[in-house]
Amino acid sequence: MTAQIINGKEIAAKKRIEIAEKVAALKSQGVTPGLAVILVGNNHASRTYVTSKEKACQELGMNSLLIEMSEDIQEEELLAKIEELNEDSTIHGILVQLPIPKHIDESKVIETISPLKDVDGFHPINIGRMMTGQNAFLPCTPYGIMVLLEETGIAIAGKNVVVVGRSNIVGKPVGQLFLNQHATVTYCHSKTKDLKLHTKQADILVAAVGIPNFIKAEHVKEGAVVIDVGINRNEAGKLCGDVAFDEVSEKAGYITPVPKGVGPMTITMLMYNTLKSAAETINRY
Ligand code: NDP
Repeated sequence: MTAQIINGKEIAAKKRIEIAEKVAALKSQGVTPGLAVILVGNNHASRTYVTSKEKACQELGMNSLLIEMSEDIQEEELLAKIEELNEDSTIHGILVQLPIPKHIDESKVIETISPLKDVDGFHPINIGRMMTGQNAFLPCTPYGIMVLLEETGIAIAGKNVVVVGRSNIVGKPVGQLFLNQHATVTYCHSKTKDLKLHTKQADILVAAVGIPNFIKAEHVKEGAVVIDVGINRNEAGKLCGDVAFDEVSEKAGYITPVPKGVGPMTITMLMYNTLKSAAETINRY
């Protein structure tokens, strides 16, 4: 079997058109969605991500505010800036680009962002709301994966889903979203014994490990849906995922490539969450 490619770039483009239309409708009611992004220090990858987020805002007709802070900023100063943005009625989404310098407590930063403006979906209140199936900001990469499957017409209820990776931003929440949609979910991680035993059971296999070409054909059931979250560089410096694409695509039923798979969905869902936050202010006030 040769897998059908799930084209994240195309699906993201379609979603962005829908978002832009909703932004325009909201603007006609006097509300322009606004996203504030705080960048601490000068990490090259972080700067690239932040620039992409600003660009996406502009393309969709949203306001973006970039706040740059120096590497040696004190924690209190960062928390005070977040509190100021929490009170700013022109700002509907606040995100602090991670990673932040080690001398600042990441949990404290995340918990200072108002849950009503936590468009990354990292605040424990949003995570708890997601777990209990309530209205919440869903974390962008996991949310993007669910939209990819929905748009591809892949049913989830009753499926065996195996997630390799259990980080707070990808692995754990994506498993929870699958559970919310009635899948049977297994998590694997670095202490899992006999990984293959589990992954071979997967109707849907999600790889969020951060190791190039980690998932091989031998890990995959014939016809499975394989979602590759990884963004890595191989030895030649080329962008690659966690899945050995060439051999796995010979066996899987569906597969996401890297690039143009999960990646384009992450910023798209960030834009969606910012729109959602802005739209909810109309009902709140
Ligand atoms: P983390 O490093 O936080 O988590 C990696 C997970 O993989 C951990 O749970 C770890 O287990 C597990 N793991 C490591 N080695 C093994 C192993 N040998 N066998 C099984 N499990 C293992 O990474 P993230 O979740 O943040 O990111 C994962 C990948 O996704 C990265 O390549 C990252 O760049 C990419 N990414 C892509 C995004 C996108 O927009 N497409 C967004 C975010 C991330 P343990 O918990 O036991 O240590």
